[in-house]
Amino acid sequence: MNFQDLIYTKRDGGVLSESQIRWFIDKFTKNEIPDEQAGSFLMAVFFRGLNKEELNVWTDAMIKSGEKLDLSSVGKPTVDKHSTGGVGDKISLPLCPLVASFGAAVPQLSGRGLGTFGGTLDKMESVSGFNISLTNDQMIKQLKEVGVFITAAGVGLAPADRKMYSFRDVIGAVECIPLIASSIMSKKIAEGTQSLVLDVKAGRGAFMKDFAKAKQLAETMVEIGNNAGVKTVALITQMETPLGKAIGNALEVSESIEVLNGKGPSDVIEITLALAKEMLSLAGINKDPAQGLKDGSAFNVWKNMIRAQGGNPDAEIPVANKKELIVAEKSGYITDLNAYAIGLSAWRLGAGRAKKEDAVSKTAGIICLAKEGDFVEKDQPVLELHIDDESRTTSAKEALVNAFEIGLEPKEKRKIVLERIS
Ligand code: URA
Repeated sequence: MNFQDLIYTKRDGGVLSESQIRWFIDKFTKNEIPDEQAGSFLMAVFFRGLNKEELNVWTDAMIKSGEKLDLSSVGKPTVDKHSTGGVGDKISLPLCPLVASFGAAVPQLSGRGLGTFGGTLDKMESVSGFNISLTNDQMIKQLKEVGVFITAAGVGLAPADRKMYSFRDVIGAVECIPLIASSIMSKKIAEGTQSLVLDVKAGRGAFMKDFAKAKQLAETMVEIGNNAGVKTVALITQMETPLGKAIGNALEVSESIEVLNGKGPSDVIEITLALAKEMLSLAGINKDPAQGLKDGSAFNVWKNMIRAQGGNPDAEIPVANKKELIVAEKSGYITDLNAYAIGLSAWRLGAGRAKKEDAVSKTAGIICLAKEGDFVEKDQPVLELHIDDESRTTSAKEALVNAFEIGLEPKEKRKIVLERIS
């Protein structure tokens, strides 16, 4: 195969053949394509896109670049979720044990965060002793016994994506719907789940700022999943304002524990229940998920999961030593609380990373003491900064200059679930 032919075909808007795509993914994964040619080809894909047939083959080739987990011995319906990520998005933490408490198996293979939001693994590592690396045998055993795990994807899973995602990052080819969709779906399909619910976030605190783009991404992923035999549904949810009150790794674990105990912020509960309903329905379980939060069964599964992964569910969740408050300059209603500004500030405090290799702070972050729609008096605290490294405080506060607005009238409440795609 002449690789320049592939580059010219895509550069000029043509359609790649199945064998060309499979050849590229194979050679790329084995480091047998010079970086300048791979970069030029992926940039051609970035601008020209992939049609449906190309995209299905592309995703399948990425899956086949590694192993596919076989969960058939688990003996329960398997269902997972994936979120495209947002500020304060800790939903996997209460959601996965909740769904498992109804008898489904939830194989949550997750990642670390890059950019303004921490990943699920970063959050789980604030739990004392929690081990995020399980072998395939341990995963299957835990699904049978506990019903859920939250762990890192092994190196054998979709290795083509591991290489391509960081390569795209370096060459500036991340924001491309077919490449994002195949990247996410190759990992989720390789995980071996029978069904999948996607939470695609739209708004200034999300990867997809724009609703139309989020919808296109959701539709593309749902189609890839269903074509590959994984029953897939997506909810598009708003990410203009932070989800819940807590932003930061340990802070989000504490808020998740509140939700698992039937308390916590109403928006976190609403999304958790909406996603749980979809997951249970795909798993063929006709139950009301709200019950699992009220009666403590989801919290029991959470504690069993922590114990099974070497952690101590009764250990204190760490808290930062230093806190600073940002107060309201006047009395009135919070009419806007900006997810992007708050996410950026939490990231500057150390809650997120800039490069894959960076460490994150467990305790740094922000608590939104007031949310959109709340009435605040002049000088009442609105945001509470949790500070782990004082040298970061000034730049974190700079990000908050226009983080919220106060008006005389409350604004209409934002809808949380914007659309369902199936
Ligand atoms: N997340 C992924 O896993 N892949 C992408 O391409 C973008 C976000």
